Amino acid sequence: MYATFAKWIRSWRDLPLKINQWCNIVRWETKATKLFLRPREFLWQEGHTAHATKEEAEAEVMYALQEYRDIMKNYLAIPVLVGVKSESEKFAGADYTTALEAMMPDGKALQMGTSHNLGQHFAHVFDIKFIGEDEKDHMVWQTSWGITTRTIGALVMVHGDDRGLVLPPKIAPIHVVVVSIPYKGADPEAISAKAKEIAEQLTAAGLSVFLDDRGEYTPGWKFNQWELKGVPVRIEIGPRDLQQGQVTLARRDTYQKSFVKESEAVETVKKLLEEIQHNLYSKACANLEEKISSVKTYDEFKRVIAGKGGFVKAAWCGNENCEAKIKEETGATIRVIPFEKEAPQTGCMYCGQNAKDVAYFARSY
Ligand SMILES: [Zn+2]
Repeated sequence: MYATFAKWIRSWRDLPLKINQWCNIVRWETKATKLFLRPREFLWQEGHTAHATKEEAEAEVMYALQEYRDIMKNYLAIPVLVGVKSESEKFAGADYTTALEAMMPDGKALQMGTSHNLGQHFAHVFDIKFIGEDEKDHMVWQTSWGITTRTIGALVMVHGDDRGLVLPPKIAPIHVVVVSIPYKGADPEAISAKAKEIAEQLTAAGLSVFLDDRGEYTPGWKFNQWELKGVPVRIEIGPRDLQQGQVTLARRDTYQKSFVKESEAVETVKKLLEEIQHNLYSKACANLEEKISSVKTYDEFKRVIAGKGGFVKAAWCGNENCEAKIKEETGATIRVIPFEKEAPQTGCMYCGQNAKDVAYFARSY
């Protein structure tokens, strides 16, 4: 990639150069694999950019980070902490690494993505130069950033429940499943015609709908299957619904059922999808907040890490030895140092020396 940069970039007119690629990565060295979170092979998106100035590269790092945050928050409905990695946790070739960190329900953190400022490190290694407007040679300033299929693992853990996946409507391949319930004695054809009609109305309104009219499965079996797959809304249409000109709506996130007039079904479903998206994010925020603790002493720190886990905010002197000792003794690492720095109220929780930062520590995947 960077050897290509060196070939492509001649003058300031070629900058900025931004490359995005989607590809798969195989890591043979990975020992303890975990589905989605630490697999032998994963898919990722990686951006690589080269700029004429340090300031432009810095802005690009933040741009990518904010885009990722937008995806996590507004699509995956997962709140994240953002900030800078410590020197020992940063990407080895970077000036600094920024990251997004999410909290899983079991109290472990998960790194959701990173955006690196590479400075001029690789420019020197690969000799990536450009002729500036001043007609002199300059080294480029680079960034790289990426997210992986690991975010799917986060999605499963953050929103899923004992019945299976719970998908935020914004990313659900199917928004609504329509199931007809042909009770004995009722007119099955009228019910299935009504189900088809409702499904068509919803599709016409721009929603992704699956009409489940498979005769070989019972309604109960279908309910379970679509719950397992995380479809946000289920519409049931039975003899009573038909008689009363209504449909039954079931939410995947809360299992709540409601009845709505057939004529209002489309508008109600649209509102319901927004509400589900919002509710999933609120629930995930509540989990994140509940799992952030502040501690003053190392004893307290060890108790929280071994107990409820989560992110633990603590004062740190900035010394890598303290960081390494904390990791060795508790398994917790610094996940991020927030951009908006808090003034430490105590000395470093490990050595007692003057604290440089308040960092977020956690055990992580
Ligand atoms: Zn220290």
